Amino acid sequence: MSSIQITDLLKSYDTRNLTIATVCSHSSLQIFNGAKKEGFQTLGIAVGGVKKYYDAFPLGKPDEFFIVDNYKDINKYTDELLEKNVIIIPHGSFVEYLGPKNFLKMRLPTFGNRQVLMWESDRVMERKWLEGAGITMPKEIKDPHNIDKPVIVKYHGAKGGRGFFVAKTFQEFNRRVQKNKSFVIQEFVMGTRYYLHYFYSPIQNTGYQLRDGSLQLLSMDRRDETTIDEVQRLGSIAELEELGIHPTFVVTGNIPIVMRESLLPKVFTMGEAVVEKSLELFGGVIGSFCLETVVTEDLEFKVFEISARIVAGTNPYIAGSPYSELIQHDLSTGRRIAQELKFAIKHKKLEKILS
Ligand code: ATP
Repeated sequence: MSSIQITDLLKSYDTRNLTIATVCSHSSLQIFNGAKKEGFQTLGIAVGGVKKYYDAFPLGKPDEFFIVDNYKDINKYTDELLEKNVIIIPHGSFVEYLGPKNFLKMRLPTFGNRQVLMWESDRVMERKWLEGAGITMPKEIKDPHNIDKPVIVKYHGAKGGRGFFVAKTFQEFNRRVQKNKSFVIQEFVMGTRYYLHYFYSPIQNTGYQLRDGSLQLLSMDRRDETTIDEVQRLGSIAELEELGIHPTFVVTGNIPIVMRESLLPKVFTMGEAVVEKSLELFGGVIGSFCLETVVTEDLEFKVFEISARIVAGTNPYIAGSPYSELIQHDLSTGRRIAQELKFAIKHKKLEKILS
């Protein structure tokens, strides 16, 4: 979607009266909470009916629910949503529930640059972007006969690590792989995982400045993945595998974490390079994004994935993180998104952060 269209979409909007909207899942409590703190109206898009669990969290409950039959039909409701002056905040599940095609077609002002979707959802393009930015990624093993150390096998389009498996030899790979699905084989990077939550503003120039705009590190987390993260309570993985019990990588939660301070310069260099390359390739990764990394024993980062919108790992930090507290008290990623919108409204720059 070009900036001309976004300008057209915004023509009918009363920008003093915007409503922040998202799908009721993933990081929606945080998004609504942050929006309310900044004085926005909020709207929760839900399937079937009002979600009762929001009653338990009044400060994260949207002011209004918008009930649809199916998220995939969202484009049927465009006119009604436009009348409500809605700005869509996409999150990880948002794109998954709507489907990438519907998301790209959606004629609603959306926070961030939708062009990023094709660069992050295709593993070849993702690698072109990240390696082009000088980031080190796990090696890819093209021919499974060459497996001579632990690898992780990832199916295309699998979400939240579902179905991924680890193999140490070709024979093990061959026994376990589902041959009817397409997959990539990556070196299994040994180390500790850090999921880094950045925020890139193309319109604000305070703090850590880039050529155009500025970069913040708002928080970081580690994902809690079942069964890999706790399977050793039953015995060693080798023992369990002999019994046919294989660890899985399904995300069930997020754990707050901080990193040794001496690694922070590298965190910023990586974030900066990823943003600069994105500006060159497709107009920029705008707003929140996350680099999913493993830090090796040599204190080197290997990035196995980028998520180009708010990630659920920011949820432990609704009241701020050890990093965002050094920027502003009580600053979550959800709130930071709302602030960016407020700043853009004030300085008439909405079309620079919406698509
Ligand atoms: P999502 O889209 O939810 O981020 P995904 O399905 O694309 O997830 P990945 O994030 O690539 O999957 O991987 C799932 C998990 O597998 C990671 O959180 C991490 O624990 C582990 N993992 C992935 N790649 C590697 C790697 N190269 N080395 C070690 N562990 C890895």
